[in-house]
Amino acid sequence: MYRVHGYAAHNDHSNLVPFNFERRAPGPHDVVIDILYSGVCHSDLHQVRNDWGNAIYPMVPGHEIVGRVSAVGSEVRKFKVGDLAGVGCMVDSCRHCSACQEDLEQYCEHGMTVTYNGQERDSGAPTYGGYSDLIVVDEHFVVKVSERLDLKAVAPLLCAGITTYSPLRHWKVGPGHKVGVIGLGGLGHMGVKFAKAMGARVVMITTSPDKGRDAQPGRRRGAAVHRRRRHAGARQ
Ligand SMILES: [Zn+2]
Ligand SMILES: [Zn+2]
Repeated sequence: MYRVHGYAAHNDHSNLVPFNFERRAPGPHDVVIDILYSGVCHSDLHQVRNDWGNAIYPMVPGHEIVGRVSAVGSEVRKFKVGDLAGVGCMVDSCRHCSACQEDLEQYCEHGMTVTYNGQERDSGAPTYGGYSDLIVVDEHFVVKVSERLDLKAVAPLLCAGITTYSPLRHWKVGPGHKVGVIGLGGLGHMGVKFAKAMGARVVMITTSPDKGRDAQPGRRRGAAVHRRRRHAGARQ
């Protein structure tokens, strides 16, 4: 058992406050990660405010987690102590339904276990996320992270990043394709950068002139910009 420090919401209207809680001792397949960075996803705000009606309090948000492995279970093969590791939005699934067998654990027929605001499958204990100093996760749901990367920039890849990377890969985006991205927010700016890196022509669609400028070539992202007019009848 680990004593862990984190930040929790205790209801749908107050600020996050310091919160001490316990994590399980690592089982044979578990990796213990000392958390270095955790991204702030807009889902965290929705969950904390109970916008989706399923909040479990106290709630420790955070599902874009990067850290260093500090202990491993006896059967862990992918990681050793000292490795960098990442955790996204899920930490478990049933492992034997057809979806799990196809490596589509997010579609687990029995429901995936979310990184926070969920319940551990065996114990029913609440899951707590990355706004904390340590997490214990089965290695199957932990990804390797290169030492060469800027870790604070890696954290958002674990939700916003994979959410935009996945469809671009699915549709095999590359040279000769044109990709439109609506909005340059947490996900949109990832989509622009991925699609550009894949060789596509990228078009940013926005009502915000500042964001349009920020998306253009020479501003690191590399999109053409189409302004959406706020008012019907405005001249193009
Ligand atoms: Zn399953
Ligand atoms: Zn997210």
